[in-house]
Amino acid sequence: MPRSMPGVADRPRREPGEFELIARYFARRDEGEATGLVLGPGDDCALLSPSPGHQLAVSVDTSVADVHFPATAPAAVVGHRALAVALSDLAAMGAQARWCTMALAIPAMDEEWIAAFSEGFHALCRQSAVSLVGGDVTRGQLSISVTVHGEVPPGAALRRQGGRAGDLIAVTGSLGGGQGGLKAWQAGERDLDHALLQAYLLPRPRLEAGLALRGLANCAIDISDGLLADLGHLCHASGVGAELDVDRLPLTAGLETALGREAAQRAALTGGDDYELLFSLPAEAVETTRQRLQACGNTLTLIGRLSETPGIAGVDAGLTGGWQHFPGGTP
Ligand SMILES: [Mg+2]
Repeated sequence: MPRSMPGVADRPRREPGEFELIARYFARRDEGEATGLVLGPGDDCALLSPSPGHQLAVSVDTSVADVHFPATAPAAVVGHRALAVALSDLAAMGAQARWCTMALAIPAMDEEWIAAFSEGFHALCRQSAVSLVGGDVTRGQLSISVTVHGEVPPGAALRRQGGRAGDLIAVTGSLGGGQGGLKAWQAGERDLDHALLQAYLLPRPRLEAGLALRGLANCAIDISDGLLADLGHLCHASGVGAELDVDRLPLTAGLETALGREAAQRAALTGGDDYELLFSLPAEAVETTRQRLQACGNTLTLIGRLSETPGIAGVDAGLTGGWQHFPGGTP
């Protein structure tokens, strides 16, 4: 049996139907600029008008309770997080986020929980100028699938391929907070203002940073699987290797105090769930990129360089916890 939410089983009440719930919580039109939305929720499909001459960037992410987030996390947090991790993929491609659809499976039709979930979801929609254009609510183990649609001019998308030997490697924001926040949650921390819990439960998709990197970064990815794994993806796609300077990794505030330096670095290297952008760029583009990122409230930290030698150098085996630099021997 999937874990149900607290109080669900012992609250006898009339359960609202799926259509009623969708109409009440997922058909709102207050996400700001809903430009391009010809027909919103309420018909069999939404009708969307993409900007002329643009390509659509589309991605889907499923978040499952007690796999990707704690089932007992506050509902508003679950709503925010499910959308944030999906939007992070648009950020990684340098796409302008436009629309999303959402399918929620929930063990019982707990209207109070759904209301709070929708608050968290819609709040991030507004902040990200994304319109929720379709939703589905069904009964099942708690999970959320979010499909995001963004736009990008032809040729402007940031790809995993394109990195060149000699490029500098950079990240936005800080690393290790995803893993540190999970550990803090498991240790009983529940203060959502706690920096590590913020990083784990309320990640900010770096959409503006992704737009800022267009034309400057040679390749990019968002850090969902962990820096080493995602850098491995970049290197593999670009046909290069990398040299990391582990002492330069920007560790999330409070991480080193909570875990100690070595475990903090390990969290930054292999923990995942950080949803920062990892990219490479030529040295001459660093200052412009730094200024553009600062202009949208982001930071840039240089953490190494791409090389012609396959594999990722500069990381002690003890720090990786046995992680293979290129599983399967590639490239
Ligand atoms: Mg990704």
